[in-house]
Amino acid sequence: MQPIFIDKNEIIKRYKPIDSHTHKGIQGHALIIAGSYGKLGAAVLASKCCLKSGCGLVTAYVPECGYQILQISNPEVMTLTDEKEKYISNISFDIKPQAIAIGPGLGQEIETQKAVHDFIKTNKVPLVIDADALNILSKNKDWLALLQPKTILTPHPKELERLIGKWSTEADKFDKTIAFSKQYGLVIVMKGAPTHIIDEETVYKNTTGNAALATAGSGDVLTGIITSLVAQSYEPIDAAVFGVYLHGLTADIALPETSYQSFIASDIIKYLGKAFL
Ligand code: AMP
Ligand code: MG
Repeated sequence: MQPIFIDKNEIIKRYKPIDSHTHKGIQGHALIIAGSYGKLGAAVLASKCCLKSGCGLVTAYVPECGYQILQISNPEVMTLTDEKEKYISNISFDIKPQAIAIGPGLGQEIETQKAVHDFIKTNKVPLVIDADALNILSKNKDWLALLQPKTILTPHPKELERLIGKWSTEADKFDKTIAFSKQYGLVIVMKGAPTHIIDEETVYKNTTGNAALATAGSGDVLTGIITSLVAQSYEPIDAAVFGVYLHGLTADIALPETSYQSFIASDIIKYLGKAFL
């Protein structure tokens, strides 16, 4: 299957300029459900990056122990907490976000698994699923049928393998991922070098990014970017394509100014402004 290359032309086709009369209330509200004890950084990075990608409001939903961490690290992000101290056990909120992300740093406690189940069973808001929420779905594959069409999944290779099983060759990996995307109607961001995006029978291949992105928290930041774009009413496939391109572009812009070794996930956030330009 011939992929569509995600280059500047593909992005320009999809880009929605910011209206000069906009205000934060119509610029999209995103909710990031993330974090567990010792992994609150994933929630900090994903929610910060979400705000830095253009949506008007971001709320982070974290376990109780994350409250001060979030409020101090991300003063622009609002914080809601779960009743449990160290992990998320019961996802309930009274806000009306336009996009939700779930998974970065979540952990896989039994109660967290149940919370993920109860949440996806009733959720109708466009959703991005990453990291431990993917691992939880891999352990409970019948829950995949509960997802709304065009839910975005962002697995790295190991997470993908847990979802679709082992593949024998690259071609087999694509065949299996396309079949999986079709079976559940999902958009699959197959992270790697390069990243491919599978939307049922259509395959996109990203053209930005480099090895500097192979660093802790890199995927959490990508989740924040894509969720922000969905909150700004980009279609899920457009948000995935644009988000993956921008994420890679930050590292391409950064490299002449810094090194592969010292580039970290916070630097993706730092270079986002230049990437949008
Ligand atoms: P995660 O493993 O969830 O933190 O995600 C890592 C992110 O970095 C994904 O978006 C990958 O596509 C990207 N990435 C990792 N290694 C490379 C590489 N060598 N070249 C380009 N992108 C990479
Ligand atoms: Mg990850």
